[in-house]
Amino acid sequence: MAQLDYYKVLGVEKNATDDDIKKAYRKLAKKYHPDLNSGDKESEHKFKEVNEAYEVLSDNTKRTQYDTYGHAAFNGQAGGGAYSGFSGFEDIFDAFFSGFGGGQTSRRPGPVRGQDLRVEVTLTFEEAAFGVEKTIEITRTEVCDVCEGSGAKKGTSSRTCTTCGGAGQVKQTRNTAFGSFVNVTTCSTCGGTGKVIDDPCAQCGGKGTVRKKRQIVINIPEGIDDGQAITMSGQGEAGTLGGPYGDLYVYVSIRPHSLFRRKNYDIYCDIDISYPQAVLGGDIEVPTLTEKIRYNIPKGTQSGTTFRLKGKGIKYLRSNTHGDLFIKVHVNVPKKLSPKQEELIAELKKTFGDESYGSHDEKSDKGKGFFDKVKDAFNG
Ligand SMILES: [Zn+2]
Ligand SMILES: [Zn+2]
Repeated sequence: MAQLDYYKVLGVEKNATDDDIKKAYRKLAKKYHPDLNSGDKESEHKFKEVNEAYEVLSDNTKRTQYDTYGHAAFNGQAGGGAYSGFSGFEDIFDAFFSGFGGGQTSRRPGPVRGQDLRVEVTLTFEEAAFGVEKTIEITRTEVCDVCEGSGAKKGTSSRTCTTCGGAGQVKQTRNTAFGSFVNVTTCSTCGGTGKVIDDPCAQCGGKGTVRKKRQIVINIPEGIDDGQAITMSGQGEAGTLGGPYGDLYVYVSIRPHSLFRRKNYDIYCDIDISYPQAVLGGDIEVPTLTEKIRYNIPKGTQSGTTFRLKGKGIKYLRSNTHGDLFIKVHVNVPKKLSPKQEELIAELKKTFGDESYGSHDEKSDKGKGFFDKVKDAFNG
C-alpha cells in the first residue's frame, strides 16, 4: 500500500486541531461510506484511506509519532487495517447519524478528557545539542480553583436536573404507521450535563473552568532534533465533568548554526587550510561543539578530503554514545601574497616543471603530463 500523507487525505493542515480532524473525518467518511456508494470501488478505497488517516491523526500518541518519524513510526502496522483502530465505535456511529436528522444519540454525561495542546519552541543549535531548560507561556483552560470545577458558588452545589433526571438526555416516543420510534435528544434544561446550577460560581460563571496563562518549564533533553516533540503529560486543556487534563506537545525547531550542520547525531563542518598545510600535513585547528582542538592531517591532503572525528558529534537522545564530527578541508589558494611569498612560490614552481601536473584520471593516459595532453588535443 502506498504511503499516504494523512493530512492530505483528510484535507487538513499540519497544525489542525483535534476538532478540525474530527470534522474533516466525519465529512469524508459520510461522503465515501460504502452504504452510500454501493459497489463503487473508488469510494471504497477512499473510505479505507480516510479511516486509516483518522486512526492515526485522532490518536495523539500516534499523531506525534507520525509527525516525528512518518510512516516508519508504525513499521507498517498502521496501514491496511481500515476498521481496526476506531477510538470508539461511537466515532463511526456519530459520523453517520449526526446530521442525518432525527436519530442522534447523545452521550451520557460523564468525564471527558481535555484537548491536547501543541506549541513550538525554537532552540539554538547548542541548546538542542546539550539540552536546556526553557520556560514557555501558554494559555489554557483549567479547572476553576474557586468552585473546584463544580460551577456552583462556594458553599452551594449543583442539583440533579429534574427534566432528564440526571441522564442528560430525553427520550421521546413517536408512534407512526410503521411502528414506534424512540427519539433521544440532549436535555435542553441542563445541556446534557445532568446537573443544574442555581447559584453559579462568580469566577467561572458556572462553567467550572477558566482560561489561564501559565508559565511551563520544559526540560529539553540533550540531543533533541528538529521536528521532534516533548510530551508534557496532563499539561493540556482541562477535561470536562471531572475528566483528566489533555497533554501538551512541545515541538522543537532548531535554528541553523554559522559553522555546523547537523544530520541526526552527526555534525558537519567545512574548514579552510593553507597550501603548505595540505602539502606538508601536520596539526590544524578544528572547531568542535565545545572547544577548538588540534587535529593532525596527513602529508599530501587533497582539497575536499573529509576527516571523521569519532564521538565529537551530538549525544544520542536515549543512549550515552555520541555521533561523529565530519570535517571537510578546502585548500585555500591565496589571492594576495607578500613579495617574499611570491618569490618562494615562484621558486617552488621551477622545481615542479610542466610535467608534474599529471592526468587527474590516473587510470587513463598514465604517465602523460597535463601539458602533453593539451598538446595532443591541439595537434588532433
Ligand atoms: Zn468556578
Ligand atoms: Zn437535564
